[in-house]
Amino acid sequence: MVVPGLAKGKPTTGLAQHWLDGTTGAVSEVEKDPLGQPVAALPGIGGERAARLAKLGIRTVGDLLWHGPRRYEDRNRPNEAKGLSKGDTGTVAGPIVVAGVKRMRHGKSLFELILDDGTARLHCRWWNMPYMGRYYKTGDFVHVHGKLTSDKPRTMNHPEAEVAEEGEEFIHLKRVVPVYRLTDGIKQRWLRTVMWRAVDQFADLEPDTNLGLLDADDSHWLPLAEAFRAVHFPDDLGQTEMARERLALEEFIRFQRQIRERRKIFQAKVKALPCVGDNRLMTPFLNALGFTFTGAQQRAWDEIAYGMAGSYPMRRLLQGDVGSGKTAVAACAALRAIESGFSVVILAPTEILAEQHHRVFSHWFSPLGIPVHLHTGSKKTMHINDPDQAELGMGSNSLPPLVIGTHALVEEKFALENIGLAIIDEQHKFGVEQRKKLVRKGRYPHVLVMTATPIPRTLGLTVYGDLDISLIDELPPGRGQVRTHIRDPESLPKVWEFVRGKLAEGRQAYVVYPRVDDQGSGSLKAVNQELENVRQQLEPHAVGLLHGRLNSAEKEEVIDSFLAGEIKTLLATSVIEVGIDIPNATIMLIENADRFGLAQLHQLRGRIGRGAHESHCILVAGEVTDEGQRRLDVMEKGGDGFALAEEDLRQRGPGELLGQAQSGLPDFNFGDLIKDWRLIQKARDLVALEPAG
Ligand code: ADP
Ligand code: MG
Repeated sequence: MVVPGLAKGKPTTGLAQHWLDGTTGAVSEVEKDPLGQPVAALPGIGGERAARLAKLGIRTVGDLLWHGPRRYEDRNRPNEAKGLSKGDTGTVAGPIVVAGVKRMRHGKSLFELILDDGTARLHCRWWNMPYMGRYYKTGDFVHVHGKLTSDKPRTMNHPEAEVAEEGEEFIHLKRVVPVYRLTDGIKQRWLRTVMWRAVDQFADLEPDTNLGLLDADDSHWLPLAEAFRAVHFPDDLGQTEMARERLALEEFIRFQRQIRERRKIFQAKVKALPCVGDNRLMTPFLNALGFTFTGAQQRAWDEIAYGMAGSYPMRRLLQGDVGSGKTAVAACAALRAIESGFSVVILAPTEILAEQHHRVFSHWFSPLGIPVHLHTGSKKTMHINDPDQAELGMGSNSLPPLVIGTHALVEEKFALENIGLAIIDEQHKFGVEQRKKLVRKGRYPHVLVMTATPIPRTLGLTVYGDLDISLIDELPPGRGQVRTHIRDPESLPKVWEFVRGKLAEGRQAYVVYPRVDDQGSGSLKAVNQELENVRQQLEPHAVGLLHGRLNSAEKEEVIDSFLAGEIKTLLATSVIEVGIDIPNATIMLIENADRFGLAQLHQLRGRIGRGAHESHCILVAGEVTDEGQRRLDVMEKGGDGFALAEEDLRQRGPGELLGQAQSGLPDFNFGDLIKDWRLIQKARDLVALEPAG
């Protein structure tokens, strides 16, 4: 069979030659599942190349189509040969004035052609490829692309070269050419030829069933085949973005549909544990709470209550900026489950946070007769794995318990009868796998995932695409303002003076350094080394020390004294990053602030501004990188968590931002999680419109 694309333009390098030599291979499986066949089924791709392509994520013929270029080179307008000097890369076009093979010593050979584009002569050389002489003859009009290795004479070694022939298209030259991501043993020109062929032969075979769906959209969308052509071998650069968007949208639509199917299957096969409740615990809880819900909290709780009463298990993400009051809403959810006869687990990312939850929930729930237990790596208030003890876990009025724990709950052979609701706090610290493990502990309990690090819209719509979302977008009233100041280390004396003043007024402070111990470099402050200095600076006010290497009894003691007001300042590492809620603390002083990520800084700042007093976040940094400065600027502007999260995503990329959760991150070839949130939203809307199949 004739292989279109191959006849076009003459291959010149050894790699292309290899490709040419392989073209006699069979293409017989094509009929069955042309796009699903392994790339090795294509002529010219042997086992070794196939293995190397697999490293690029290319396994099937279809994968080739979906492997987009990293960038493009416009080789339409040749450079003037005269204008190129040693080290420059460029394209030159002109007739061949001299061509021939020289035999060298030791059986080596050199093929050289000289082209003249009217401005200067250019020598092109290929070693040990004597067959080149068959393809390039004096008088042919040739395009070459490469790097000048010498000025006198102007020379390119092994440039890419193609000859124009009647009615034939260029692949590598005289056009906008794609430049692909490569890996060891895969060369650009070889891959481009493979791509050319794949697009030519297979682009029309990719099912384009969503085009009809896209009619519902105002914008004009290309058919898939056209999009593949335009994205790989565009006629001009202007086409590429539109084509990329079409392919990205296709990816997002397919992804959304997968989510929908997964949910449908889940919802069809799994029955919910009915949690309707009768308010016998809820009413006294709300009466004793001491505040009324904000509108946003009430809305979130209504959505959760509706979900828990539904016919399939709730899967819901509760998003809200730090301090927006997610805990009280989660408490309602817990009460609803307990009222309905089910136990509840709360999973926290750190022991400190688990203990704080234990304190808060004990305070709220114990008066109602609900047993509240703690289960962390170092502390277990109930032996849950022991069936007899588990019985003891029930309250005297036989209310099922609330168990609060860290990942110890997930990792150990923890078993609790009758879990009706799993609450996962600060989700971004947990991986998707851990979430699954926990959920498997029960008979499909309802799941409420809470996060205070706002997830940028795109990620919310993808990673958490299978969760419903409730948003608390309002802070409780009566909160003092939080002001953010950036200072350099020279102003530290004034900063300490300011902090002393606030402590004298009765407020409390956090001081945060990046390290526990100085590792000798001295460039980053460490709490152990700075403790004495901080104590002196803040005399006579007591300073406590908190970091991750303390054991949990030590941690608890420090936090308790801080809560009781015996310690006025907590000198800490970022262990206090999440969740700690101490309204009288109004100062957050962070040194080496540029060394923290945006999400971390935002979380740290979220520890203050929880009471009625005005709060101050002071970021101290010396010489900083541009990125570090950008983070500090974003912080100084204030900015709600969402603005921050999006900036963070831009700076660090989705994998970094999500930490372990990245294992749940879908891999898009054309879709871009940073800039495509409109497309993701569109895909979601379009799929929602689709009649359920
Ligand atoms: P986060 O959303 O960061 O988990 P919390 O649930 O810790 O926030 O709430 C922060 C503080 O605000 C807590 O002290 C909590 O008791 C208080 N709070 C929550 N909701 C309200 C409200 N509606 N009115 C007043 N204070 C509230
Ligand atoms: Mg919280």
